[in-house]
Amino acid sequence: MFACVRRTGSGGLDESCIHVRSAGGIRKGFVVIVCRACISPPCARVCPTDALIEREGGGVRLKADLCISCGNCVEACPFGAVLWSHSTNKPQICIYCGYCADYCPYDVLALETIEEVDHASE
Ligand code: SF4
Ligand code: SF4
Repeated sequence: MFACVRRTGSGGLDESCIHVRSAGGIRKGFVVIVCRACISPPCARVCPTDALIEREGGGVRLKADLCISCGNCVEACPFGAVLWSHSTNKPQICIYCGYCADYCPYDVLALETIEEVDHASE
């Protein structure tokens, strides 16, 4: 989380695009909440101003100047991965840079390209 914010030059965690939280007690460990770069992303489909643009290869890009801070994208993401910046009052959208993975000392995170499976040809 801190690595992600460092990328922006800011301090604190408000502008992090990744969140790690307890899974509910020490024994259950932790859950990493991060964008999965969906093909046909639900967050983009509910954006009323086209501020979220589908990205080639999956996921979205945020055009912050078009965002009206409605919060629809936060509700639509099935992973809860649209985090909210209270300082900008806009969503924090992952840019798939992999910086967080580089700084994970336990190799929990990796940025990988996956092949899309064409079920129609099977
Ligand atoms: S923010 Fe959520 S819905 Fe949007 S591309 Fe990422 S995982 Fe998918
Ligand atoms: S908060 Fe911004 S990016 Fe998200 S759905 Fe609303 S206008 Fe689109």
